[in-house]
Amino acid sequence: MIWFTEYQTKNTGLTVKVKEAKHVQSKYQEILLLDTYEYGKMLVLDGAVQTTERDEFIYHEMLAHPALIKHQNPERVLVIGGGDGGTVREVLKHPSVKEVHLCEIDEDVINISKQYLPTISCELNNPKVSIFVEDGNKFLDERKEYYDVILLDLSDPVGPAEALFKRAFYEKVKASLRKNGIMTAQTESPFLQEEYFKTAVKEIQKVFKNYGTYLAFIPTYPAGMWSFTMASDDVNILDSSEKDYEKIKDLNTKYFCDKIYTSLFALPKFVSDLIK
Ligand code: SAM
Repeated sequence: MIWFTEYQTKNTGLTVKVKEAKHVQSKYQEILLLDTYEYGKMLVLDGAVQTTERDEFIYHEMLAHPALIKHQNPERVLVIGGGDGGTVREVLKHPSVKEVHLCEIDEDVINISKQYLPTISCELNNPKVSIFVEDGNKFLDERKEYYDVILLDLSDPVGPAEALFKRAFYEKVKASLRKNGIMTAQTESPFLQEEYFKTAVKEIQKVFKNYGTYLAFIPTYPAGMWSFTMASDDVNILDSSEKDYEKIKDLNTKYFCDKIYTSLFALPKFVSDLIK
């Protein structure tokens, strides 16, 4: 019998029973593809759970849809990280989107996801999608004022993603957005990764005029409490309109819905106190 534990802090973790495990050492990280009893297939990078077949919809819907709804006509979208393809799949549910760029540093993550996680990676061959196997930090140097929405679907701020949680990188994200552009970043767990959370959100607050942090319940992420931060210079993201709700009606989602959108930025007090 095999059990896998992700140590989420020195003193606590998530443990799952595993039917089968595959291991690949890529150029950037240790990749584990686990077939688990409770969560289906699970992708783990350097010991940290990235996605599972059972609960992936929550993270991918909540990262993609709020910004794509707030933007009145998103045509060009960039996903940085996200090599499993789940965010790209959700982005393509928006009919206005004409072009999706995916910039993932590790080609092995893309290949393993295509082979073993077909329900997540299913849209990676869509003709609207172009895949760039590059470091997101360098990728943005070449692309100024191009995207309507940028989604930062990154692993934790250690290893290859470390620089992509810093102010200098968020400045590049801002410069790569065209007028009325919006970005959303995954900003870690406010409960078990308080320092990562505070640092990422505060760096974003220094760069953009408008910002808001929201949460989702994701069972396999640390403490089950996960955060995202949306930001824009031109769009007052705290506003919503009738049109937004029309768009939500047509989305085929399992977690994100009109009621979540209405209260998107409602945070528990201890969370808002951390990022005041
Ligand atoms: N849902 C996830 C989470 O919060 O744990 C993120 C999933 S996604 C698989 C994260 C991806 O970011 C990984 O595949 C990793 O290779 C990629 N990544 C890390 N650093 C990167 C960088 N500098 N440029 C582009 N992609 C990067």
